[in-house]
Amino acid sequence: MRIQLLPSTFDANGHATQDQRLTCFLIDDCVAVDAGSIAIALTNEQRSSVRDIIVTHPHMDHIASLPIFIDDLYPVLHQPMRVYATPEVISLLERDVFNWNVYPRFSELHNDFGPVMEYIPIPIGEPFKVAHLTVTAVPVNHIVPTVGLIVSDGKKSVAFSSDTAETEEFWRKLNEAQHIDALLIEASFPNRMAELAEVSRHFTPASLGEELKKLNTTVSTSWPCTSSRRTAKRSSNSSTR
Ligand SMILES: [Zn+2]
Repeated sequence: MRIQLLPSTFDANGHATQDQRLTCFLIDDCVAVDAGSIAIALTNEQRSSVRDIIVTHPHMDHIASLPIFIDDLYPVLHQPMRVYATPEVISLLERDVFNWNVYPRFSELHNDFGPVMEYIPIPIGEPFKVAHLTVTAVPVNHIVPTVGLIVSDGKKSVAFSSDTAETEEFWRKLNEAQHIDALLIEASFPNRMAELAEVSRHFTPASLGEELKKLNTTVSTSWPCTSSRRTAKRSSNSSTR
């Protein structure tokens, strides 16, 4: 399984910087977990292969360029862009984004080849298929309905916490799993901003350190932390095979 964190900020020479203001992980060049930077950071090959997008929650940094990505590909989509999310998140996307005011309701539109966007409601706690992957969504503790994900390709299993503060079910699922190869989780605020982290339900390095004590199994963790909220989301491209 190959996992790439798409960059979202570029310097004057067009090179990706370490600032990470948007969230979009790409798995095996074809499945996206969230869509913050999906329209601005894919290669042409990836743009032609990504048709499955899992949305963990509807915060802007996780969906910012989802409408633009579908808009970009609108005339050439030979199959709908499949957007996987919980029914609650789908309702929020329809109400707040694809509402004919902010963006067209793509789920009702067709190009010359058929529908351009399809919502696929996902269950909580039960495995479902996304392309070649098996995914389990687990509720986490954020200020809007949000799920963490456990993703397996049959050989490797990787957990994505998405945005969360102290939570229980996610760790219970990970501890129950026979094997987790990697955990991607973030500390969104520095320790000096603990109050803001708490009200927005994110971690600081200190609170994340405490939280990780709930993990009873050994995994590779990725939780780079720096002094600002968004750079704290930075993670280098990583892969596990
Ligand atoms: Zn969020």
